[in-house]
Amino acid sequence: MRSRKILVIEDEAPIVRLLKYNLEREGYEVRAARDGEDGLKRFRSLRPDLVILDLMLPKADGLDLCRIMRSESRAALLILTARKEEADRVVGLELGADDYVTKPFSVRELLARVKALIRRSGGLPPAGQPMRFGSVALDPERHEVTVGKRPVHLSSKEFALLKTLAEAGGRVMEREKILETVWGYERSSEIDTRTVDQHVARLRAKLGPESARIVTVKSIGYKLKTN
Ligand code: CA
Repeated sequence: MRSRKILVIEDEAPIVRLLKYNLEREGYEVRAARDGEDGLKRFRSLRPDLVILDLMLPKADGLDLCRIMRSESRAALLILTARKEEADRVVGLELGADDYVTKPFSVRELLARVKALIRRSGGLPPAGQPMRFGSVALDPERHEVTVGKRPVHLSSKEFALLKTLAEAGGRVMEREKILETVWGYERSSEIDTRTVDQHVARLRAKLGPESARIVTVKSIGYKLKTN
């Protein structure tokens, strides 16, 4: 099995050394970045399975970074922060982080969180591989969707919608949550939950024989039948 890749984005050199040493000892491949800019660059080239992100970084707002990384990949995100309230906000507000550890942290605690996150992501294909459900394949890297051998041409929002549902792994997603994830900042007053319904309708039409995979959960939202 290939070793899992971890990207550490942290500006405090002693912490980076400590993490690198301990994670490598566990068999992970570890890369580090010292600021947000470099962090994002490495994130895009390395395609890590997990990112350990310090929220207080030079040249970037950790929260923005978190949101950007989440929108681009399914890598697990573990936040490092000195402020507990901030951590609750990041995970609670669903900026995309999966878990957090507050500083000062114990290495043992952190390793346990890392392992749990990697294990949880074990069911998903490695980052960069297409996700499959039935005869549908969704390739997040190439931005391509096929049903059987037939390519399906989706708008960027339709693609993001399908990807969002796929990443929920069969769980129901509320329409509000879909709006927030897919439309985010572009959201204007004309965009509301009906927009989600319209996009789902279009997506179903384009998925043809697989249209029934997108299930309406009455008065809540939608889910994707993944198997
Ligand atoms: Ca820092």
